[in-house]
Amino acid sequence: MTEVPRAVEKNIEPQMVIEGAGVLLRRSFGPSRENLFDPFLLFDHFAFNDPIEGPLVGFPMHPHRGIETVTYMLEGSTRHRDSLGNMGVIGPGDVQWMTSGRGIMHEEMPKRGPEGTVNGFQLWVNLPAAEKMGAPSYQEVSSEEIPTAGENGAKVRVVAGRYAGVSGPVTEIAAQPLYMDVTLQAGEEFSLPVPAGHTVVAYVFEGRGLFGEGVDHIVDAVRMLVFGEGDLILARAAPNSHVRFMLVAGAPFGEPIVPYGPFVMNTEAEIKQALSDLRDGTFVQN
Ligand code: MN
Repeated sequence: MTEVPRAVEKNIEPQMVIEGAGVLLRRSFGPSRENLFDPFLLFDHFAFNDPIEGPLVGFPMHPHRGIETVTYMLEGSTRHRDSLGNMGVIGPGDVQWMTSGRGIMHEEMPKRGPEGTVNGFQLWVNLPAAEKMGAPSYQEVSSEEIPTAGENGAKVRVVAGRYAGVSGPVTEIAAQPLYMDVTLQAGEEFSLPVPAGHTVVAYVFEGRGLFGEGVDHIVDAVRMLVFGEGDLILARAAPNSHVRFMLVAGAPFGEPIVPYGPFVMNTEAEIKQALSDLRDGTFVQN
């Protein structure tokens, strides 16, 4: 049987938005009832590389219910603490995969690295109805625990999923995600089988690459690509430039969603419940 490479179906220009206590972000997509990226809800790129952006303020204590938030740092760090009693720093190359379940309160405060920059991503992954009110949990993975696969001019950091026989440390996630940081040197090729029916997106954040079924869709950073149906993702760095992208795939849940700020539930009634739990002080139950 011939494997069908996936075409680039959408090429999204991320939009600047302000979130939290005034954090400037590049947002590729955010939560919406249309649920176009099921099981993914949001993809943000926070990059503070310009002194005129002012002091970093971050995301003071806030709740989440019904989702998973995935933080991946490239430069700088994020200091975090939460209602489970966790506290720590997510540094360059580290990942925090947080499953909010029924309720978590947490604080996320970015800090510039030695180069004076902060650079990283936050992905929101939906939870299926059956797991939205489960216990909150974390998978904290330090940079050294994330394996790098690939040879010659291809370097693939595998956070979740499998590439070239190398499996990522993040497992047991409902969306069966694949999450990889792919760097290809000029002219280098990349190919990865992906399960049929899974949603696949790629966030191209450095350089220039070619994507799609004919590997002829030219993409300059920074863009979010959404792939159509098929069995295979193909990519190649341009002849005179490297390319770096986050490759993200997951199994859609096919359930209706109602997003409301930091909550994503299946019905309006469940959103009302979340708000009343917050008011009554019963939101967090460790
Ligand atoms: Mn948060």
